[in-house]
Amino acid sequence: MRSQEIIKITEKFSAHNYHPLPVVLKKGKGVWVWDVEGKKYLDMLSGYSALNQGHCHPEIVKATKKQIESLTLTSRAFYNDKLGFFLQKLCSLTGYEKALPMNSGAEAVETAIKAARKWGYYKKGVKKDKAEIIVCENNFHGRTITIVGFSSECQYRDGFGPFTPNFKMIPYNDVHALKKAINKNTVGFLVEPVQGEGGVIIPDDGYLNECYKICKENNVLFIADEIQTGFGRTGRLFACEYENVKPDILIVGKALGGGFYPVSAILCDKRIMDVFKPGDHGSTFGGNPLASAIGMAALDVIIKENLPGRAYELGNWFMEELKKIKNPVIKEIRGKGLLIGIELKKKARPYCEALMKNGVLAKDTHDYVVRFAPPLVIKKEELKWALPRIKKAFDTCVF
Ligand SMILES: *Cc1c(COP(=O)(O)O)cnc(C)c1O
Repeated sequence: MRSQEIIKITEKFSAHNYHPLPVVLKKGKGVWVWDVEGKKYLDMLSGYSALNQGHCHPEIVKATKKQIESLTLTSRAFYNDKLGFFLQKLCSLTGYEKALPMNSGAEAVETAIKAARKWGYYKKGVKKDKAEIIVCENNFHGRTITIVGFSSECQYRDGFGPFTPNFKMIPYNDVHALKKAINKNTVGFLVEPVQGEGGVIIPDDGYLNECYKICKENNVLFIADEIQTGFGRTGRLFACEYENVKPDILIVGKALGGGFYPVSAILCDKRIMDVFKPGDHGSTFGGNPLASAIGMAALDVIIKENLPGRAYELGNWFMEELKKIKNPVIKEIRGKGLLIGIELKKKARPYCEALMKNGVLAKDTHDYVVRFAPPLVIKKEELKWALPRIKKAFDTCVF
C-alpha cells in the first residue's frame, strides 16, 4: 500500500492529537529509516531521544527475543528473575541506592511527585495536604492531568481542568525566583537540565548547581527530569553532571527502553524511597521481566558504545558545522551534545517538510525551533551526509 492510502486510514481511525510529517516508515536500522516506497531517511529525531541506541540495535533485539520466549509479564504480585538485576545495574550506573520502575515518562514524573509529597509529610513534617512543588515556566514533563496542570503551555491545559493544586511556577534559569518561591511547605523543585520540548533551552552555567544548593539549604528535594537529556544525549551520561549535581530524585525514561519498549524509573536513596510501603504505588507492567531484560541491554549499549562521549565529540563538531550554514531565517543555533536546536525567525514546520524531502527527518518544537537529536550511535560520515541536505532544505524553503 502507498503512503497516501496508509495516511488516510490512519487519519480516519486515529484521534487527531498529533500532526505528523507525511512520511510512512516501515523499517529502521541504526540511524536510518525507510518509508513504504523504499526511500531512505536519516532519523534526526530519534523518537524524542528514546532511540539513543539507534533503530533495532542488534544487542537489544537479541535480548528481547531471548526474553520474549521465556517470560514477559509476572506483575509485581510475584518476583521475577530479571527485575532485581536490572535495578542493580541502573543503580550502580547512576550511583543511587534504589530505583522504582514504571513504563512511560509521565508515570515516572507522577511517581517522583508522589515520592516528594510523601517525603514532605513523613520526613520533613509538612502539615497534611499543604505540600508544594516548584516547577519552571516552559517545562515539559508529560501529559497527565496533574502534569499538564503545571504546564505554562495554554494548549496543553485548555479544556482539561480542574487540575491538581499546589504547584508553583517560576521562570526557568532564575535562581533568585527559586529562593523567593520556597516556603516551609515546599517539598520539591522539579526541573529539566535542558528544556527539550520547550525549544532546546539551555540555562546559564551554574544555574543547576545554585538551585541544588538552595534546595539543600532549605530541605527541599531537587528533582531532575532527565527523561530526554539522560543516557548520553547531552554529552554526559546525565546533563546534571556538567554541574556536579546529583539530584535527590532522578527521573529517567525514553532511551532506558532502547526504543523497544516503554521503560521509565525514578532513582533516589533509601531515605526518600522508603516512604513507599506495599500498596502505596504501583503499575501492572512496571518492572516486568521483558522491560527489565530490554532495559539491561539498553544500558549495556549506552556504556559499551560510549554514547555520552560520542554525543559530546560529535555534538560539538556538528554544531560548529551547522553554524557555517548562512541563512537569514536562522536566528540562533544552540545545543548541548547531540541535542541541538535551530531557532528560526519563521514557523519551523515548512522547514521540517523541506528537510524531509531532502531525506532528513526532524520535527519542529515550540513552533520556531527545528530540533536535531539523532541516535547517538551516529557516525561523523552520516552527519556529513546530512549537512548539505540541511543547507539545501533551508535554501530552497520559501513560503
Ligand atoms: C518525553 C518526556 C516526558 C514524558 O515521557 P512520556 O514517555 O512521553 O510520558 C517527560 N519529561 C521529559 C523531559 C520528556 O522529554
